[in-house]
Amino acid sequence: MVGERAPAKTYCIIGDPISHSLSPGMQNAAFSALGLNCTYISFRVPAPELKESIDSLRAINVAGFNVTIPHKVAVMEYLDELDATAKKAGAVNTVNNIEGIFKGYNTDIAGFIEPLRRRKFDFCTTVLLLGAGGAARAIIAALSEEKTTGSRVVIANRDQAKAKELAKVGGNLGLQCEAIAFEDATKVSPEAGLIVNATSIGLDNEPSPIDSDHIKKGSFVYDIVYRPVVTDLLEQAKFAQAHLVYGYEMLLEQGAKAFEIWTGLPAPRDVMKKNLLGIFGEPT
Ligand code: NDP
Repeated sequence: MVGERAPAKTYCIIGDPISHSLSPGMQNAAFSALGLNCTYISFRVPAPELKESIDSLRAINVAGFNVTIPHKVAVMEYLDELDATAKKAGAVNTVNNIEGIFKGYNTDIAGFIEPLRRRKFDFCTTVLLLGAGGAARAIIAALSEEKTTGSRVVIANRDQAKAKELAKVGGNLGLQCEAIAFEDATKVSPEAGLIVNATSIGLDNEPSPIDSDHIKKGSFVYDIVYRPVVTDLLEQAKFAQAHLVYGYEMLLEQGAKAFEIWTGLPAPRDVMKKNLLGIFGEPT
């Protein structure tokens, strides 16, 4: 019927903790910029309640949802289909409800890589990856899409078993990967063309595990921690005259990709960025 508004659609994010999430503000700004009759809310879902929460989302016919800590791997069991990105990462951060079929995707992969592609980063280098958790898994999947002869990924993590397991996953995806002790990161960082922080260090303003003396001038330093927007690692990188890549850029891009999966429309990235930076302030 002409002039009639499309039925309201509900989207959400599930995780625990969830109150820190910036996705509701960013996605609601995007829906409203495009005049879509959609709402995005957050639900705190403790790990033992995941299955019944997914059942409830089916019952209310939610249009789609994001998944964050600690459910990105566990949620896969309760979905009907996985796309290639979810299979590659072994984790899901976005779910689309396609006529009752819950299909899982991983937009962290594209979210991570886009800011580097935009900067025309040359992947033929040593990459030092700090961390071997859920985000690091998506990063390994992303790097495997860019692998070139001469590229090497060194994974430094406190828990060595996790580092070794992730190096194995990377090897299976065709990457040349090795695992090292977290304390040895500064032995590799001076030769790395890209340093990525995928640990949660920085969230509480902890000091960087790598100082400016151990960062190569002209290299790239990417901190996926987005709060604060300029972490101590990025301050150290600035001092070392490295190129900075901010965690909010990944947050923005993974959210934009999720929006596009749900709506089939180009995401209004400028509006979404403005919403995020309105909270953070433009980095200097
Ligand atoms: P996980 O809990 O899966 O992994 C946490 C990682 O941090 C592990 O490798 C852990 O090491 C390491 N770690 C935690 N504390 C320390 C410490 N004190 N010293 C050394 N290593 C430490 O979390 P995620 O991988 O999902 O997320 C990691 C970070 O990335 C979070 O801060 C999250 O907010 C951010 N993130 C940002 C995104 C973005 O869009 N910008 C997207 C996803 C995540 P160990 O295994 O030894 O415990």
